[in-house]
Amino acid sequence: MPRYRTILIFGAPGSGKGTQGKILGKIPGFYHCACGDVFRSLDPASELGAEFLEYSSKGQLVPDEMTVRLWHESILKTVKSGKFKPERDYLILDGIPRNVSQAVLMETHIEVRRVFHLSCPDRDKLVARLKKRALRDNRLDDANEEVIRNRLGTYDNESKPMLHHYSGVKRHDIDASMTPLEVLHCILQGLLEETGALKAP
Ligand code: ADP
Repeated sequence: MPRYRTILIFGAPGSGKGTQGKILGKIPGFYHCACGDVFRSLDPASELGAEFLEYSSKGQLVPDEMTVRLWHESILKTVKSGKFKPERDYLILDGIPRNVSQAVLMETHIEVRRVFHLSCPDRDKLVARLKKRALRDNRLDDANEEVIRNRLGTYDNESKPMLHHYSGVKRHDIDASMTPLEVLHCILQGLLEETGALKAP
């Protein structure tokens, strides 16, 4: 089976991956999959759902094998139902892979064409955004500042090294403190380049 043509949206919690991914997923020819949403759709009373809550409530990553298996099962369902058509659509991934080991496990499934890195060195700004989201989206893992700081630490220690893993892939570093519209503009430029509608500078 050919690998899915994939665009990675990469960045710390609160950097705006989900906001951008959701918008991009509305464009015909793109399908958005957020790993956190796959986990949150699990029944909290099920074994997997309980395990997810155990890790996420501490700001830790769910173990890699289980994460990639669950993601793969979920994506195969979307292919079967016709929501995601791999022969036509780019897959926009947000929140997965989240470390080098996941990236390696996923290599048989995805061909990463571009990485959009939403970068925000101002950690306080990210914390403020997540606290706002906690109220809006009822996210337990956003409500507690200690859990938020743990997630930011997990991002620095485990996720950031992934950028090196994809050093052979075209990467766009985008200032995540800009407005959503400005960030979207930068991403769209990269996607137009990728699809051949715009020549690379
Ligand atoms: P955020 O990007 O703000 O951390 P997500 O919704 O992407 O929010 O993820 C919420 C939680 O779900 C994470 O803190 C983590 O516990 C778990 N999770 C999501 N994606 C992964 C992944 N690829 N690997 C392991 N755990 C994950």
